[in-house]
Amino acid sequence: EGPSSRGLLDGLDPEQRAAAEHPDGPLLIVAGPGTGKTRTLTRRIAHKVAERGLAPERCLAITFTRRAAAELRERLEDLLGAHADPLTVTTFHGLGLTVLREQHARAGLTERFGVADAERALEVASEVAGSAGAGQALLARRDAVSVDGDGAQEPDEEVEAYRKRLRERDLVDFADLVALPVRLLSEDPALAEAYRRRWTSVSVDEYQDVDGAQYALLRLLSGPQGDVTAIGDPDQAIYRFRGADVGYFLRFEQDHPGAAAVRLSRNYRSNATIVDAAVAAIAPGSLVPGRELRAVGDFSDPPRIGVHAAADERAEASFVARAIDRLLGGTSLHSLDSGRADGQGEELSFADMCVLYRTSAQAEAVMSAFDAAGVPFQKRTHDRLSARPGVRALAAELPLTPGEEVADRVRTAAGALAERLSADEEAATAARTAGELLLPLARRCGGDLDRFLAELALGAEVDALDPRADRVSLLTLHAAKGLEFPVVFLVGCEDGVLPFRFPGSERDPEAEAEERRLFFVGLTRAQRRLYLSRARRRTRRGSAADSAPSPFLASVPEGLTMPVDEESAARRRPKDRQLRLM
Ligand code: ATP
Ligand code: MG
Repeated sequence: EGPSSRGLLDGLDPEQRAAAEHPDGPLLIVAGPGTGKTRTLTRRIAHKVAERGLAPERCLAITFTRRAAAELRERLEDLLGAHADPLTVTTFHGLGLTVLREQHARAGLTERFGVADAERALEVASEVAGSAGAGQALLARRDAVSVDGDGAQEPDEEVEAYRKRLRERDLVDFADLVALPVRLLSEDPALAEAYRRRWTSVSVDEYQDVDGAQYALLRLLSGPQGDVTAIGDPDQAIYRFRGADVGYFLRFEQDHPGAAAVRLSRNYRSNATIVDAAVAAIAPGSLVPGRELRAVGDFSDPPRIGVHAAADERAEASFVARAIDRLLGGTSLHSLDSGRADGQGEELSFADMCVLYRTSAQAEAVMSAFDAAGVPFQKRTHDRLSARPGVRALAAELPLTPGEEVADRVRTAAGALAERLSADEEAATAARTAGELLLPLARRCGGDLDRFLAELALGAEVDALDPRADRVSLLTLHAAKGLEFPVVFLVGCEDGVLPFRFPGSERDPEAEAEERRLFFVGLTRAQRRLYLSRARRRTRRGSAADSAPSPFLASVPEGLTMPVDEESAARRRPKDRQLRLM
């Protein structure tokens, strides 16, 4: 019995429904933040499988982070039950890993090849180049080679020596995971054709952030007339510094003659104040002409966006801690000015709140203020999981630990490691913690330890964010992509911080356009309440200097904002629920 189609398209609005039901063939879905792209993508895939007879094993869905992939799979399981099992839902790196494991011999690798994490790659590069500094320079050049999909430029002998050295050790690096499959498939058209027959239906989320190598891989896997669905928002393209190029999104229709394009314009995430502010903020640099985006969520009388200028970054951080205290008490800073309890009947908890910043260094001040005030938090960056304390030691231990299932091995190894390190409390805790944020990944890998170790090398720390923990999330703007929170504090809205510039460097219009998109991404993470704060004076790289407001603030219509000032606070939360405020 096939999966039931009843209800598959329920809960979609007419635009989303049209996108989900659109016939096979190249389709571009251009949609702003909060318009339900993931919801629509999920239903489109489910509809193809349940209604149009697409065999699930023919379906490939690619997302940007592993966490997004896990979420997508979960939703597909809800819709399709066991029929979702044969679907391939993965990231570009995960896809590359799958292809390479199948084609390892052609790439000069054994079946059990490993993925070098950033530290290992640097070790190998430093050996080849003669010093750590030269190794770093080599890796920077190596990244430039990979984003061009390989082979386009002058050969770089040192980079070639580095790659040869990796192969000798049966290793690939991150860039290889996409670049090697691109090479194998372009060298052998029959092989590419075989993969195209295997995955006849391909979908990609966050298409605005693909880079050259990923684009090349997609082209090889889908072909110009293939059934490919690309979803994204050019105004949320924020990975140019990593080689992503929004140009690939913008030329989708040229690449796929006859492609259809649909737009989604209803924002279900945020209230009208936030949506209108975000639309105004992106307008001066928007890559989506005539963008329509309007709030349709059930938010009555939304509060204005709170703006706050603090004396310095420490005062700014304590403003955030105090505002959180007020919100937990069911009032807000707004209520102090407007005279009404602005709680909208909602019960807020720490998990509903998030602090966003441009650079990780800004988290320091926030963390000290939160520690002092007793605000629990979880900080996540887009850094590699393998860079976290304890993870590498644990990974080294696993092959020596007995056990059928990877999860059993992880548990045993973490325990053994913690015991061995018990003299060093910090290291022992790190080992134990690493064993716990890793168990879900281990379970997903069943008994395949090689796959687990490869996935471990690939995972981003943000993948491990626990949405159920009752903690405030501290995130860089990059790491916040795709996420949503009832309350958002965007700190450091200053010229030089957001838009970011190295102190003393020139303005670069293209870089600044991307910074505006980051600002847009930040604003559109908020569902109900948004605060934009800045410091009048900030210490950066050890020296304090006056800080001017971000030029982006001027794009937010004044009528949508109101100054909030915790100093004028009159009402306090009941004593027993008070945080330890400075
Ligand atoms: P982003 O660009 O930030 O990634 P997105 O377009 O992927 O945003 P989603 O995260 O899929 O948006 O959806 C935003 C929110 O709106 C989610 O909470 C989702 O459940 C909700 N939503 C989407 N479509 C509908 C709908 N038709 N009815 C009710 N809620 C919806
Ligand atoms: Mg999304």
